[in-house]
Amino acid sequence: MTRRIFNSIFGVSFLLLLCCLAVVTALLYQNFTSVQKKTLVTETQLAAQGIEKNGMAWFDGLKADGYRLTWVSADGTVLCDTQVDASSMENHAQREEIREALETGSGESVRSSATLGTRELYRSQKLSDGTVIRAAVTQQTAWSLVVGMLPPFCAILIAAAVIALLLAGNLAKRIVGPLNALDLDQPLENEAYPELSPLLTRIERQHRQIGEQLSELSDKKNEFETITGSMSEGLILLDDKGRVLSINRAATILFEVDDACVGRDMLTVDRSPEMQRLLTDALAGKRCEALLKLGGASFEANASPVLTNGETRGVCILVFDVTEKAALEAQRREFSANVSHELKTPLQSIMGSAELIENGLVQPDDLPQFAGRIRTESARLVTLIDDIIRLSQLDEGGELPFETVDLRDVADEAVSLLGPEAEKKNVSLSVTGESVQISGVRRLLHEIVYNLCDNAIKYNVAGGSVSVAVGREDGDAVLIVADTGIGIPKESQGRVFERFYRVDKSHSKETGGTGLGLSIVKHAAQLHLARLELSSELGKGTTVAVRFPL
Ligand code: ADP
Repeated sequence: MTRRIFNSIFGVSFLLLLCCLAVVTALLYQNFTSVQKKTLVTETQLAAQGIEKNGMAWFDGLKADGYRLTWVSADGTVLCDTQVDASSMENHAQREEIREALETGSGESVRSSATLGTRELYRSQKLSDGTVIRAAVTQQTAWSLVVGMLPPFCAILIAAAVIALLLAGNLAKRIVGPLNALDLDQPLENEAYPELSPLLTRIERQHRQIGEQLSELSDKKNEFETITGSMSEGLILLDDKGRVLSINRAATILFEVDDACVGRDMLTVDRSPEMQRLLTDALAGKRCEALLKLGGASFEANASPVLTNGETRGVCILVFDVTEKAALEAQRREFSANVSHELKTPLQSIMGSAELIENGLVQPDDLPQFAGRIRTESARLVTLIDDIIRLSQLDEGGELPFETVDLRDVADEAVSLLGPEAEKKNVSLSVTGESVQISGVRRLLHEIVYNLCDNAIKYNVAGGSVSVAVGREDGDAVLIVADTGIGIPKESQGRVFERFYRVDKSHSKETGGTGLGLSIVKHAAQLHLARLELSSELGKGTTVAVRFPL
């Protein structure tokens, strides 16, 4: 600012000075010339009078400082000169001023010397005897006048520079002062310069716009934080360098970090090789996923690059719990392995018996026994396949026909079906309780009661009993199947609902068990949102209660 003001003031002063110098020089030069010419005329007249009176004697002892006098005869021969020896001078008849004087009585001329930078003014006058007297004076050119004026000009210029500098500093301070004192938070309250009004109005408008945009941004941020904060999945946003921009509450819990990780590298949140690979791929613009083990649970992390014009601007990582999915997968694998194994055993037995018969190695008397074994194993296979089909139907889910079912009716039906079986095993079977209507799938409710009663008979002792009770308790419909059988050891009680789990494999097989009965019960109960409670004591008996919420 100061510099600009200085430049302006100094520039204007310099130009002004230059103009003044030119004008003054021109005027002075004109003035000098006219004064010199007048003086030259007077000098010539005086010399003419002196020579007319005294002749050559007039020149004796003459002192003519600054002037040169030359006396020329009528034929142009130089008779006398105050500065140069006359005999050495050439004929002057053709000099302009001499010729003019000879013709008209007086003459004038001006000759310049480019080398000396001077001008000679000549004035001549014809005397009565026909001779001519000439006076000459040397005049400085305009340029030498300028050169002569340069020192004072420079002095004035330096003074102008100093004044301009002082003025500029002062002016800048006075101009900038009010600008520095502007309150930009309240632009319209300022009374600095009227010229600033449009600027201040614009600043005020921009203030308002920025305020509105900030509040909009803050609303959006709050909205974003509310949504991501209530998500059960972990959500992390990274910039293009892999630094955390935002991390939601679920992710901080999963990775056991706090909000201080925002702005730091993602690897400070999770340093596992899986995460490193995920980040490298995502920052390279690839969508990728990885399985993470966090706190003993399995999580899937999906990383999506945020691309703008093909360039990765950031990465969005979504982390969700797949523990259940992983467990289900493991369960499915285990189930397939178990199914193959369970199917293989009876099939091998059937094949073995058939081969023996085929090769004639079985005595005719033993044939019925072998045929019986083949039948028993085939029946076992059919039961097994039936159970597997039932289970997979339950696994598939799909639309189930829910209806109002009387639990007591279902219990009576199952008990009457199992009556002969109970009789065969010398086990008494009874149903007690009221009729309770629940909403359920009749076929599945039948499976529950049938399987529980079937187990209670199968794992009972001769002379034992099985009692089925139906009723209401604490707002639930309750079905209780209690037996006085062999009981289940403590360590197996938690596992009997697993697929293919049997306490005593040989005994279970003997009794035609597949290890799937209680799994079907558990699954069917889950579909009815019912709770299963099992209590058992070895050698005393087992009680299973199914509680259906009403
Ligand atoms: P299974 O078809 O072998 O009976 P389940 O899934 O119905 O298979 O039962 C799993 C295991 O639990 C059985 O093999 C048996 O050892 C035990 N179990 C089930 N119910 C009873 C019961 N009422 N008393 C004693 N043990 C039982």
